[in-house]
Amino acid sequence: MDKNPTAVSEKAQIPKEEPVVQAPPAPAPRELEKKEGTRTYYTRIYPRVNGGICEKCGVIDKNQPAIYQYKLCEHYRGLSLECSYCDPTRDPDEVVRISSLKIYDHPTKKDAQGRPVLGVVCDSYDCTARFNSEFGN
Ligand SMILES: [Zn+2]
Ligand SMILES: [Zn+2]
Repeated sequence: MDKNPTAVSEKAQIPKEEPVVQAPPAPAPRELEKKEGTRTYYTRIYPRVNGGICEKCGVIDKNQPAIYQYKLCEHYRGLSLECSYCDPTRDPDEVVRISSLKIYDHPTKKDAQGRPVLGVVCDSYDCTARFNSEFGN
């Protein structure tokens, strides 16, 4: 049976695309979660940031202070990592400078795009204790 011209013209119509909301530069490239049989309460852990330097990427721009190096790397580009547990009176830059930060996908909190928000915890005794009591390990 010949195709009905009306149907063809309807088919040729370009589907309306949802306007793309301009999001700020994607923080970290997303990957499919790999099930590796590890027992964790959070879905994914990212490279640590030691004194501002991503453990995977190292120093990227020698002209920048150490605490900004992670902001240049592929994992945390454009992000300002702040420990979620630190006392709000602490200077986040100072915490970055003196700490090893652990970064993970938060198991329950999601951003506007439905992706897990990044949780951050520094290696101070108090923050580690609070993190461990929240996540139970
Ligand atoms: Zn990195
Ligand atoms: Zn902290």
